[in-house]
Amino acid sequence: KSGFVGIIGRPNVGKSTLMNQLIGQKIAITSPVAQTTRNRLRGILSTPQAQIIFVDTPGIHKPHHQLGKVLVKNAQIAIDSVDVLLFVVDGTSEAGGGDRFVAELLERTNVPVILGINKIDQHLTSEVIEQSYSDLAANHPWTIAKFSALTGEGLDLLQTLLVDR
Ligand code: GDP
Ligand code: MG
Repeated sequence: KSGFVGIIGRPNVGKSTLMNQLIGQKIAITSPVAQTTRNRLRGILSTPQAQIIFVDTPGIHKPHHQLGKVLVKNAQIAIDSVDVLLFVVDGTSEAGGGDRFVAELLERTNVPVILGINKIDQHLTSEVIEQSYSDLAANHPWTIAKFSALTGEGLDLLQTLLVDR
């Protein structure tokens, strides 16, 4: 069993840290292939049950110029070309416009989405913050996972979700 996991989210939420942590955590890695096309990095995680290919995307933001539009178009293509999407958000602050823009891109896809609330090591996650992400996920069949890409807390569960899906 193998599959592609697209890691998406606004800039600075911890997408790259997460991919590195997921790939680095396991000893049984084939090889972490780092390939920089314009902005997409790939990494491979091999477990006894599955091989997961992570696609780390550049932070998605609302385009203000033509190149930006091309990047968003690419992001949209990337969204539909993976088996599961990991939509990463920053659990230390409320959902904002950047997160909502990414959520909008996910409206039209049939790819299953895991909403990953990152940075739980900061212990700043308040009810207001939690609620803002529940609101973001409202009306979507998204699975919610919480973890720290930095410390690795919660990543075993996330990996199980990715493999067992
Ligand atoms: P990206 O732009 O989404 O790829 O985000 P990065 O992976 O580059 O991380 C952005 C910043 O957030 C960096 O300073 C990371 O060290 C920090 N960061 C990422 N994950 C965590 C986490 O789980 N906890 C904390 N405290 N900081 C994190
Ligand atoms: Mg990054």
